[in-house]
Amino acid sequence: MKIHWRLRSGIISTLATMLSFGLVACEDAKKSVELRAAEMVGDIAQERLVEMNSGETERAAADLINIPIEIRKISDLIYQARGVSNTNVITTSEGNVVFDTGLATQAAKQRRLLGEAIPGPTPYVINSHSHQDHVGGNSFWLEEGTELITHAEFPEEQRYLKALQPYLWYRNRTLFPFMPENPPDIGFLVYGNDKPTILVDDGEPYKFELGGVRFEVHPTPGAEGADNICLWLPEQKVLFSGDFFGPLFPQFPNIFTMRGEKIRKPIEYIRSLDRIIALGPEMIIPSHNDPIEGGEGLLTSLIKMRDAVQFVHDAVIAGMNDGKDVNQLMKEIQLPPELELSQVHGRVAWGVKSIWEYYATWFHFDTTTELYGVPASAVYADLVELAGADALVERAKKHIDAGRPLEGLHLLEAVLGDGRDHRAGLEARRQALEMLLEEARETFKNSYEIDWLRYRIRDTDSRMVEAG
Ligand SMILES: [Zn+2]
Repeated sequence: MKIHWRLRSGIISTLATMLSFGLVACEDAKKSVELRAAEMVGDIAQERLVEMNSGETERAAADLINIPIEIRKISDLIYQARGVSNTNVITTSEGNVVFDTGLATQAAKQRRLLGEAIPGPTPYVINSHSHQDHVGGNSFWLEEGTELITHAEFPEEQRYLKALQPYLWYRNRTLFPFMPENPPDIGFLVYGNDKPTILVDDGEPYKFELGGVRFEVHPTPGAEGADNICLWLPEQKVLFSGDFFGPLFPQFPNIFTMRGEKIRKPIEYIRSLDRIIALGPEMIIPSHNDPIEGGEGLLTSLIKMRDAVQFVHDAVIAGMNDGKDVNQLMKEIQLPPELELSQVHGRVAWGVKSIWEYYATWFHFDTTTELYGVPASAVYADLVELAGADALVERAKKHIDAGRPLEGLHLLEAVLGDGRDHRAGLEARRQALEMLLEEARETFKNSYEIDWLRYRIRDTDSRMVEAG
């Protein structure tokens, strides 16, 4: 029988509240009830996500949601619970080392399945970084005496991500409309309460041995935030990379995120890649999707990624010193054929802008109004009054028909700003957005660009409905 989502949430939050008030006395029993409750919550959330997302074929995130939560054995030592995010376990005679603990709503099931496959104590849990989908199951794994290893920047990254959670949630949900309306408020699903016991800073790796297996935790900041670490098994030559490489390998990195996190430091990223190249991995196990094998081919790809970012970085510096502005550089700088990489995740033009602003900050030095909180849109109503909305839309259409959708959109901003209605203007806006979307699909297939354009089209459609 299907119980309504809200009712089921109600039952589960009552259960969760009972747990947090300590009504279940025995520690072990408490833990297992908590796990079962969390698994129920997770199943409902999963069902809902799959439902909301059905029919979606374009979005990379959609593929992740449909990955079954199941165990795979990668080698005699390495097990993985798959899902939106993987939970990886390296098993030894003295216990298990866990690398990333998955998305909160899937983590309980991952924990149970791994516990059944390779039971044993958990002396170490390692979080590749502080994002929700990598720390969600920490509470299910941490035992008395478990060391939680993170990068030294982890507490600060988690602090700011938690402080900005409403803002980030809104942005994520705009791009990924299948997400729940609000962040979960049920005890063990709440983000941002992790307390690492071992911090790895940007110097030497943290090394330890367990059950005869050697482990090295390497700082690799840069690609997915300032607090990235990778786990290296020197004897097996296996690298657990978290999100360092993003959802695809190889690819141009997401130095900037459209959802609006802190800018990532390009030089840090290049140095981290140097570190990984020096290790010479034969297998990379990312925390999303499948392991990557390939010896020499792996190394070639790693070098190409490093050289591509270095190339873009140096071209931005040269352009800045030549007095070029950021828009010009966004158009000019392109990867040479030998460094061509997928831009599905990070776009080179946005990397250019991020690097420019990382070094030069927000003041672009070309207008006075940039210094004050009065944007160009403050006089859009004047423009419309002087030129007439119909004339502006006419001119916008001319641009769009001539293959210049962005010039068209600028003019339409003036007409449609502040929620002003104009049927033909909205239609022209839709046409311009469709053109950009088609181009995005035919060229870089960048998932964030596609998600953004689809959001703007949905928004335009709903304004057209409102306008009647
Ligand atoms: Zn992730």
